[in-house]
Amino acid sequence: DRVDNPYQGAKVYVNPDWAAKASAEPGGDRVADQPTGVWMDRRAAITGTNGARGLREHLDTALQQGANLVQVVIYNLPGRDCAALASNGELGPDDLDVYQTEFIDPIAEIFQDPKYADLRIVTVVEIDSLPNLITNVSPRPTATENCNRMKENGNYQKGIAYALRTFGAIPNVYNYIDIGHHGWLGWDDNFQPTVDLLAQVARDSGSMANVHGFITNTANYGALTEPYFSINDTVNGRSVRESTWVDWNRYVDELSYAQAMRRALAQAGFGDGTGMLIDTSRNGWGGSDRPTGPGPQTDVDAYVDGGRLDRRIHPGNWCNQAGAGLGERPTAAPASGIDAYVWMKPPGESDGSSTEIPNDEGKGFDRMCDPTYEGNERNNFNRSGALPDAPLSGHWFSAQFQELMRNAYPPL
Ligand code: BGC
Repeated sequence: DRVDNPYQGAKVYVNPDWAAKASAEPGGDRVADQPTGVWMDRRAAITGTNGARGLREHLDTALQQGANLVQVVIYNLPGRDCAALASNGELGPDDLDVYQTEFIDPIAEIFQDPKYADLRIVTVVEIDSLPNLITNVSPRPTATENCNRMKENGNYQKGIAYALRTFGAIPNVYNYIDIGHHGWLGWDDNFQPTVDLLAQVARDSGSMANVHGFITNTANYGALTEPYFSINDTVNGRSVRESTWVDWNRYVDELSYAQAMRRALAQAGFGDGTGMLIDTSRNGWGGSDRPTGPGPQTDVDAYVDGGRLDRRIHPGNWCNQAGAGLGERPTAAPASGIDAYVWMKPPGESDGSSTEIPNDEGKGFDRMCDPTYEGNERNNFNRSGALPDAPLSGHWFSAQFQELMRNAYPPL
């Protein structure tokens, strides 16, 4: 039987492959014992890739550690990440069959092995997928051809439905579906339509009960809380929602977004037991540039820009953000409705390469990872804010890891 919050009282698996990379960095020992997500990001990851153990070995190592919770990111949909190129993936838009039989089925077979029955297996189901079908499709100016295609063929919904159903049948698996982050879905146009789509996918596939909860901010950089301004503040009679940074969003941080999403999703049919995770791996925004109080009350922009912890150029920026730091260390039940703060994105692993690098991992080149890029509709034509000299997504990026440690908040 599933428990209400699998993180409560749990010992979470520390991935030795990540820990080895972290502790090889000067000062990395300070965080190398933190649990991070294990990413099944292509079929080869199931049996293991260069330098990374396969899924069975991870679960076996978890048992050896005396851990009872393992976090596995399920990330290989057909036509993956349709609005970006850095993690496009190995499967074409129509490869639903391959996804089901060569990716989900073999993973489920491993999860089902009786020797893992006492492990709580948390799955993060397919980030960068369903929200794209709301925000990056025609007639919106942010539409991409690939997202239109995925909306048309329905393979994101079908793939996710299959994953939820297959894993949901295994009593010790806890499915958490990705719900982007406040800087993506916090606007009225995006929020409820995403909730409705999630409910529809779960309901149509008989999977309402197969969803344990949802995760926000996976591999993103949104601040957990913005202590120096709130969505209800006004300056000279103007709402902070009118500032360039907030731009009519309803939320200014991940905690308020996650809690509001939880209420909406519970109401849409997922029920009051719905639990939330927040990825705090890289949203600390500490270091010497961190504001220590509110911005000046001269106008809404000065007020918001002077006080915000999130120092990105634009909240739509997502690749290897300069100035970011490690966030809250993984914690169980840290706030109302939140099952845990987690480090689902392993800090130090790149979001994408700054220049094109040929590879056989299904990784493309997205100019949002190029620091000289001047942006597109999805970040309102701002600079990308990405660090230079980054390797392929998922590869170790030492300079970024060093900066994340320097700018950690709470500090290390
Ligand atoms: C990459 C994956 C990688 C993951 C975690 C994603 O952006 O596409 O290959 O495993 O990040 O670092």
